[in-house]
Amino acid sequence: MPPLAVLCHHGPVPVTFLAHQAPVLPMKRRWPGLDGVALVAGSMVPDLAVTTLRTTPRYLAGVPLWWEGHTLADQWNWCLPVGLVLTLLLRRLVLPALAPYLPDAGGFHLQDLRHVGRVRYRWWVIVGSLLIGSVSHVVIDGFTHPTGWAVGVVPGLDRGVASVLQVVASVALSIVALWQMWLTGRDRSICVWNGVEPTPPVRPVAETAVRAVAVLLTLAAAAWASTQTERGSTIVVMTWFALSLVGAVVLAGAVRVGSGVAGRSPARPFRPVRPTRRCVPGARSG
Ligand SMILES: [Zn+2]
Repeated sequence: MPPLAVLCHHGPVPVTFLAHQAPVLPMKRRWPGLDGVALVAGSMVPDLAVTTLRTTPRYLAGVPLWWEGHTLADQWNWCLPVGLVLTLLLRRLVLPALAPYLPDAGGFHLQDLRHVGRVRYRWWVIVGSLLIGSVSHVVIDGFTHPTGWAVGVVPGLDRGVASVLQVVASVALSIVALWQMWLTGRDRSICVWNGVEPTPPVRPVAETAVRAVAVLLTLAAAAWASTQTERGSTIVVMTWFALSLVGAVVLAGAVRVGSGVAGRSPARPFRPVRPTRRCVPGARSG
């Protein structure tokens, strides 16, 4: 198995996480009016379709239950509906509830993710951002897979070159994504985009217990996913990720109820906030 790559049902592909976020993170930084959560969800959602493959039955009442996720049709049939649900859950529930339990990771300021639910985007901004993310995923896969759509179409891009690109892209794009995440954290951009003052890291209630449950849920997801080995290694990995997401939703719901903040995050009309400064003045601490 090449480093930083997973074996997909149709071969190795750049990693779903980090590498595929490399194109969309700079877009959000350049055009803050785009929906960053939808961009990132869109960049992941084609690979989530892998979890449906080789399930039984393949059809239910004539309706296919397997989704490829990377075709043009599946941009509408899979990426859009599943991506919208994912975006909604991440923005309204998972990130506001669980981001305070993340390590702030120094300059990355990962806990700033708890603020992403404060801005309300127009529906076409969400849909557009989602599809930008999913199409960018398919474009990259086309160049970095031996059977990608661009192989044999783009001069000089044959299966061998694509195989090399697959490893190079996985590493290089992951580095780019990390760099973009660091820039976003350094500038406290998530706070700026969402109209809040940057603050030092918080110490949420029951911090150790919630983190422990998160680890247990992730391990349980791995145990469940490992029962699917006959369906292929990538299906196992993506099943693990999908089940971990389900666990995160459940845990976020429990945290929200337990902390007595059941209800809704502060809603405000959508106002694209252009970060004209690196940071809100006087709020660099933390
Ligand atoms: Zn893919």
